Amino acid sequence: MQWLLIGTCLILAVAFVVIILHYKKKTSRQINELKVSQKNLEFALQSGRMGTWEIDLETNRVKCSNEMLYLWGVTSTEFDGDRSILQSRVHPNDLEKMKAAIDKAIHNEVVYEMEYRIFPYPGIERWVISRGRCTFAPGTKKAIRFSGVVYDITEKKVKEEELKAAIKIRDQFLMMASHELRTPLTCMQLQLQVAEWDLKHRFPEAFTFERIESNIKKNNQHLSRITRLVEQILDESKISQGRLIMLFEHFDLNDMVADLIEQYKVTAEFSGVEVIFSPIEKVGGMWDRFRLEQVFLNLLINGIRYGNKSPIRISVAKEGNNALLSVRDEGIGIRPEDQKRIFERFERAANDKEVNGLGLGLFIANKIVTEHGGEIRLQSELGKGSEFTIVLPL
Ligand code: ADP
Repeated sequence: MQWLLIGTCLILAVAFVVIILHYKKKTSRQINELKVSQKNLEFALQSGRMGTWEIDLETNRVKCSNEMLYLWGVTSTEFDGDRSILQSRVHPNDLEKMKAAIDKAIHNEVVYEMEYRIFPYPGIERWVISRGRCTFAPGTKKAIRFSGVVYDITEKKVKEEELKAAIKIRDQFLMMASHELRTPLTCMQLQLQVAEWDLKHRFPEAFTFERIESNIKKNNQHLSRITRLVEQILDESKISQGRLIMLFEHFDLNDMVADLIEQYKVTAEFSGVEVIFSPIEKVGGMWDRFRLEQVFLNLLINGIRYGNKSPIRISVAKEGNNALLSVRDEGIGIRPEDQKRIFERFERAANDKEVNGLGLGLFIANKIVTEHGGEIRLQSELGKGSEFTIVLPL
């Protein structure tokens, strides 16, 4: 009987030891698994530049991950759980909204989510998004903890801002373009309405040779303006999509200039402008003739528009390995502070309010010349005139 008792005790003791050993092994395996998943979580949070935070609502102290401290530009030695250290780096305009959003989330028992700006270092702004929720004491409505995650969305915000700015520029451009197109279209429409009225009322004076000739001239001018604007709009869109294609051929700049001056003789005469050009030497090279015609015409037409009816002098020459094509007027000139800006998209100088335009001609001209490996030089003085020189590698 006694032996039986001792035997049972022994079996029980062995079973107890085996159970303890089994659970110890299981617990240490679970601890290891927990450590691994914690490491994985940390890695995932770090990769997503995501930090975690937890506010003890009773003490108002905060625990946060190293990644969050890194986002805030605070070192772990600097941080002792004081919430105000973190709050002092939040943009003042966002701080009040953030506090209100947290209060609302606790009160309404909903998820908190907010995008706001922080300043981790002086002069450095970072956008973050924070999401969190409240934990209540079991079986009560007492909020005890508020915890969540925060991550860096600066890149997304910067792209968003760039996109907004691009859309704004597009909208302004569309407005400007429609306004510019409406002016010649309205003039043409008016002229047609008047002609229709004259026809209907059999008004013979309206159909003299001179009247018809003058109307055709005016309409041609309006049409060239519309064509020029549409071409500029199409080219601008090609440039922004990187689709401006160059077709190089060998030709002499003097021939190109002489042909175009001949074509634009009527326009210049109509505007009361003398165009002076005397070729000196042959200046040939491999360039895109169609595109360079466009550049030269833009400079010539600008000379007529902004030249105060002064003569326009054109010259073609060689300088080292470059060909130079200059267009000089003695018109309104350009202020030094505007001289770089006018080559940018949609930019116009401040001193030309009477003349309409999209501010695209020089932008396109500059792109075409740089595609040739050249540049456009500008020398100008306000009130004295301007000289634009196209420099092309020979
Ligand atoms: P726009 O269609 O507005 O003329 P451009 O890109 O051709 O566009 O020219 C940009 C601006 O540069 C013009 O609005 C004008 O202010 C200035 N500009 C261009 N050419 C001349 C010139 N010859 N004299 C004075 N200002 C000029």
